[in-house]
Amino acid sequence: MVRSHRLIATAATLSLLAPLGCNGYTGTSAGSETDGSTSETSTGGSTSTTGGASMTSSTSGGSTTGTSGVDTETGTSGDTGGIVPAEPDLQCPGDPSGLCDESPGAVLEAGAAVLPIIPTCFESWIDEDGDGKFESTKDTLLDCGCDRLCPGDPGYAAPDEGEGDKTIQGIWMAGFGEGRAASGVRGADVGLVGEGDGLWVRTIVLRQGNTTLAIVALDTIGYFNDDVETLRAKIVEMGFDVDHLIVHAIHNHEGPDTMGLWGSDFLVPGYDPKYQAEIHDAVLSSIEGAYKVIAPVKEVVVGEVDISTYHDNGVANVISDHRDPWVVDEFLGAARLVGEDDQTIATLISYGCHPETLADENTLLTADFVHAVRRTVESGSTWETAPGVPGLGGPAIYLNAAVGGMMTTLGVEVHDPDGGVYQSASFEKADAIGQLLGEMALDAVANGDVITDPQLSFANLVFFPEVVNPTFKFLFESGVIKRMTYPPAEGSDKMRVRSEMTMVNLGPIQFLSVPGELLPELAVGGYDGSRVNAPGVPLIDPNNPNPPKVDEAPKGPYLKDRMTGTYRWLIGLGNDELGYIIPAYDFQVDMSMPYLQEPEGDHYEETNSLGPHMAGLMEWGAESLATWAKGR
Ligand SMILES: [Zn+2]
Repeated sequence: MVRSHRLIATAATLSLLAPLGCNGYTGTSAGSETDGSTSETSTGGSTSTTGGASMTSSTSGGSTTGTSGVDTETGTSGDTGGIVPAEPDLQCPGDPSGLCDESPGAVLEAGAAVLPIIPTCFESWIDEDGDGKFESTKDTLLDCGCDRLCPGDPGYAAPDEGEGDKTIQGIWMAGFGEGRAASGVRGADVGLVGEGDGLWVRTIVLRQGNTTLAIVALDTIGYFNDDVETLRAKIVEMGFDVDHLIVHAIHNHEGPDTMGLWGSDFLVPGYDPKYQAEIHDAVLSSIEGAYKVIAPVKEVVVGEVDISTYHDNGVANVISDHRDPWVVDEFLGAARLVGEDDQTIATLISYGCHPETLADENTLLTADFVHAVRRTVESGSTWETAPGVPGLGGPAIYLNAAVGGMMTTLGVEVHDPDGGVYQSASFEKADAIGQLLGEMALDAVANGDVITDPQLSFANLVFFPEVVNPTFKFLFESGVIKRMTYPPAEGSDKMRVRSEMTMVNLGPIQFLSVPGELLPELAVGGYDGSRVNAPGVPLIDPNNPNPPKVDEAPKGPYLKDRMTGTYRWLIGLGNDELGYIIPAYDFQVDMSMPYLQEPEGDHYEETNSLGPHMAGLMEWGAESLATWAKGR
């Protein structure tokens, strides 16, 4: 099985941390998890995962197990799975603070803006040994400074920063191993539809009367809640009337490290403060730009398609699930916001998969398959011989949904309408998958519902999840990951972080943001094989030495069942990236080196998860926000 995501590092290198990790973990008593099972004994949903919830002061409900439906703090149970819903921290319109008073009859307005976020400074290099890893002794540094122009190059003026200093001004690419320095930006000369690829911030501002929401999609691996809070403070300072900001990272594995985990070497942060400042400024400029062009929305056209119906191989033509059980949410949604001039203000696309088609040896900055999705929706698909589908104009904004455990394009064999078949990592493969998904999005809109008076509302819920995973604790404490932490709640010894979930209603479309990489089974179930959606693919790999006990899996309601909109779209990595969010019944960590060593079978994700409490927290958050939505 392909192990794609070295979110932190290989298990071998991580074992360097073992003494710390193990001591830090096994020494706990109060509040210590009951998930420290081996692969043999299994965590089982039968044990209660007390770890965790530690909500905001006003809330206590929610730290349910993923399976028993009993709240471990209140001991209650009921139709909501024992969840005691919390009051959102912000609800618009009509927040008691007066921030966004009701404005009956107001029309919806929207504006969008797209800006590049290619780093302004990085040096290129030649990968002499072709391993995608920059090593000064083996590879050739093109020591031309930030602008990557050397004497003799067209446009060369004078030496610039870093030029000739024999040191790489590196931009380190995220998502796989360390040492993957960017060598350039993917251009039109590579793949099927390279033009316009790169890294972007795509922002939509929605306003209805006194209620304003900005949704920002970044072509990055992840964006932490602290950084979102910094942006919010700046927005207030700049005088923008934005009541709430959602920053979504598409989880791009072919762009710079914005989290700190993938630097030049193991445990050397890849986080570049200068680049982070550039992103920060670009986000603010994009909000300003979207605001400037805000205009009434005549209608929203929204639809969904079943991606399994587009090829004999079902969903497997474009996506794979690398963690048992095989569960793929087969729905792709798209919504076109149309202005009074019948032009597209923006098209939102919702689908869940890791943008990592180019895999671990590519060094050109790209948005992976997401580029071709957006390009297709904007300006149409272009195949070599097969007919293309015309696009909708206007900016396309891709929102990745449940990407966890493990929605991926790695290993997928894609068949395109030209007869092209691509399996190994290439721009052709990324473009083929992206164009196919883009055409599906166009179908969704073509057959969509026309909504003429969409109402906008949203609510946000803040909470402070415990850092159960000792590796994460170490990374936070050591500063490898720059993130504010909070002291343990009473009766616990676990540090906490701030995070949040948002629900947005836009007419019949309901978005729910989750602060990480949610396994789709938490959203849709599918433990009975109903979400395989690919002929011949087993629910559980018969060769899995430690298969998940799906008969112990939660029976629902799942997150999408709890939601109330006609169209239920998750925003994965919404306002945070806390790693994988895994059903508690199958959350297994190694007994001797918990969170460092993986138990047999498919348990990589646990090493990059905050802990087993996250799934219950998501249920609590979804139930709380759905309760707010029902009360409107
Ligand atoms: Zn991931």
